[in-house]
Amino acid sequence: MNNHGELSFEQIVSHLKATGQEENELFQRAAAIKQTHVGNNVYLRGLIEFSNICEKDCYYCGIRCSNREVHRYTLTHDEAINCIRFAHEKGFGSVAIQSGEIASATFTKKIDRIVREAQKVTDGEIGITLSCGEQTEETYRRWFESGAERYLLRIETSNEKLYRQLHPEDGKHSYTRRIQALEALKKTGYQTGTGVMIGLPFQTVEDLADDLLFMKQMEIDMCGMGPYIEHAATPLWKEHYRLLPLGERLRLALRMIALLRILMPDINIAATTALQAIDKGGREEAILVGANVLMPNITPSRYRDDYFLYENKPLSARNDEEELDYLDERLQAIGHRIGYNLKGNSLRYGKRTSSLP
Ligand code: SAM
Repeated sequence: MNNHGELSFEQIVSHLKATGQEENELFQRAAAIKQTHVGNNVYLRGLIEFSNICEKDCYYCGIRCSNREVHRYTLTHDEAINCIRFAHEKGFGSVAIQSGEIASATFTKKIDRIVREAQKVTDGEIGITLSCGEQTEETYRRWFESGAERYLLRIETSNEKLYRQLHPEDGKHSYTRRIQALEALKKTGYQTGTGVMIGLPFQTVEDLADDLLFMKQMEIDMCGMGPYIEHAATPLWKEHYRLLPLGERLRLALRMIALLRILMPDINIAATTALQAIDKGGREEAILVGANVLMPNITPSRYRDDYFLYENKPLSARNDEEELDYLDERLQAIGHRIGYNLKGNSLRYGKRTSSLP
């Protein structure tokens, strides 16, 4: 393995299967590359789960539109702005507004108003990531012009056949459209992020190796990927007997993060909540092997139970301020520090855009 991310498909597959000493070496190499390229700052994105209303019906997701057991909610404008004020006051450099997918003029307007006001109330100091699904290029442009700088849209899996196994063929779900949406985001000028679920039923290590190469080929600026976690009220639940045990899914996710850091040394990689759902220290482990972004949940607590994507979603007993102190301590204990008041832009994005004509 060299330091420049030139790994062959076969090498990636072999590293994805690594255990014991070989796995340790992979993690150490990724940690060293991370230190050289992005250092030991961890950037915070305050996660705002804006709405669990969703028009999509993904077979794996707890908030799919066919799940009638879900109590649906949307934050009010003021609730969203209060979350943003909180994040800004506490020195979070940015927030991530995530939502079930709704393509409507009303939804577009609501997000637009929040993005504009967030800029106003923070004097343009807060970075805004949106993760609101597939939208038209026009909507992406409108939100970008209003001040959203980053967008996260997971491809979920780069294997088109597997994508079709995970989504209904009802005209609302299309692998090609998802790729086109990612391309539209890049074209619009966003720092563009994608990601996949790791340890899905029917998914092979070869698929995961392809996922990593897909992200490299797409020249993404950021990545949020984590283990797939089953949810009893979804159609994919019936395949749960095929899954790796949770502990192994976590380790596989850590190897994915380490390999992505080696392949793409200067992108932002999030230590996602699903890692924490498997192990309390899962996010810190991810930070140690390559991740450099954390997304503490700052959604008003009364809504958090309703944004229930998968089993064991972590719901902290601490309030958001205590949670931040706790994270600060845990990160210091592993030799990292929070980049307070820093937007933590993707270094890759900076390089990618400075070379444009
Ligand atoms: N609607 C937006 C979109 O499509 O990008 C964002 C919201 S969606 C609920 C956010 C992410 O949750 C998805 O991209 C998916 O990867 C993840 N997710 C959903 N169900 C999951 C599960 N059972 N296990 C792990 N992650 C899951």
